[in-house]
Amino acid sequence: MTVAHQTVTSFIDGAFVPARGEPLAIVNPADESIAGTLHEADEAEVAAAVDGAARAFRSGPWPRMVMAERRKVFQRIIEAVRDNMDELAALETAATGQPIHYSRFIQLPRIIANFEFYAEWPAYALETATSERGRSLRYVLREPLGPVALISPSNAPTALASTKVAAALAFGNTCVVKTSENTPMALARFVQLLHEAGVPEGVVNMVNGRGQVTGDALVRHPAIKAVSFTGGTATARHIAAAAGQGLKRVDLELGGKSANIVMPSADLDKALDAALIAVFTNSGQQCFAGSRLVLHRSIAEDFLGRFAERADAIRVGHPYEEGVENGPLAHANSYRRVERMIAEAREDGCAVLAGGRRADGFDKGYYYRPTVLRAPSNDVRICQEEVFGPVAAAIVVDSLDEAIAVANGSRYGLVSYVWTNDLREAMRAAESIEAGWVHVNTPMLALDPRFPFGGYKESGVGRDGAPAARSFFTEEKTVNYAM
Ligand code: NAD
Repeated sequence: MTVAHQTVTSFIDGAFVPARGEPLAIVNPADESIAGTLHEADEAEVAAAVDGAARAFRSGPWPRMVMAERRKVFQRIIEAVRDNMDELAALETAATGQPIHYSRFIQLPRIIANFEFYAEWPAYALETATSERGRSLRYVLREPLGPVALISPSNAPTALASTKVAAALAFGNTCVVKTSENTPMALARFVQLLHEAGVPEGVVNMVNGRGQVTGDALVRHPAIKAVSFTGGTATARHIAAAAGQGLKRVDLELGGKSANIVMPSADLDKALDAALIAVFTNSGQQCFAGSRLVLHRSIAEDFLGRFAERADAIRVGHPYEEGVENGPLAHANSYRRVERMIAEAREDGCAVLAGGRRADGFDKGYYYRPTVLRAPSNDVRICQEEVFGPVAAAIVVDSLDEAIAVANGSRYGLVSYVWTNDLREAMRAAESIEAGWVHVNTPMLALDPRFPFGGYKESGVGRDGAPAARSFFTEEKTVNYAM
């Protein structure tokens, strides 16, 4: 399914507003054609969107509904997304460049999983009241928080926004969503679908534009009670500072430089398959990419040789081509960043075992070969900075303790992967690694809303996932009732 040129404007009070703001081109990274035009929301337009959300919160039906009523709407949303999946996938691929099968069958079905989960979970997460020997009764009331800002990144604009929208709505909030100015098209259609499925007007609004213009105005707006953000660590510093001024809650899900430790007792074939998936899926544009391979010396040569060979065999191509595993990088800036970081890695003494160059056969588009580097130590720039591209850097170690030290030798702490069949090693690694999610003998998994997901250190503040989302998206009020 190809996509006609899209015009993306803000969605306020149940409808797209007329095109007014500064036009910005949405570039298709597969061939650098113009996939659409975004009209940037300025401060006044952001204020109109927040006013819509505030009105819907103050006097609309959504915050007042019981869960059974909201669940009916969630079920209609699931049907609408299912019925329009091909269109959503085509829109997502036209802006992100990710292979169409990946959009259609891996990333966007997460919208459905999120709404299925949040349609049920709040009803089952029951609180218990405490009676003080018949003299008093104490219990907790949870009230929706208010209009919230939900900001998603360019690598999974719609799926990650849906995690936040489903959670915010399940607890009765209203919201204004925003994603990257480069990738707004599928999210805009999804927001429209929410309303076609019965979400009342003003409950979900969308603004579009650059972070420092539209995003900043959204975060600073005084009626916004909380900001749930997924994106880069540098951006999060601005958001946290702006939200701090307004004493707003923040949930920050940020970047990573995750270690993938392989020990000698591991099933090396499985570890190899999983390591390739962990770092090269979506051309490495994943927060939880296992971008540092930490290999025990006794298996390093063989493992790395096979890993580089397999990386060389990955098919890079147009997102619609049959059999393509990796599409282009999402943006010209991402491509330039990868080129710069590979040049720095060479300067720092890294050996290039695979890739390290543009993919052959493309005059246009941001195609880069999966790249494997052997790093002289964990201190070089390629091992310390997030690439957000198809680049794995290998570090050789002599013991589990050294592997753990390397894994923790990072300002990030999002995810880690450990491959070992020694139970004691596995448990020690899981306890010692500073990361929000440790996978033992497990390939990269999609986020599971039943569990907390988030980062240590500069990978985040707070957690996505149901247990934390309940506190984040509600005011908790303890009631003490004397009998
Ligand atoms: P980014 O930080 O550039 O942008 C993310 C979003 O923030 C966009 O919608 C952008 O417009 C907005 N934004 C930028 N400046 C802003 C400001 N001053 N105020 C308000 N909003 C602003 O990130 P990106 O390039 O879109 O995404 C890649 C990053 O996201 C990587 O670092 C990746 O690791 C991270 N990420 C993290 C997770 C996670 O769950 N931890 C998941 C996916 C991606």
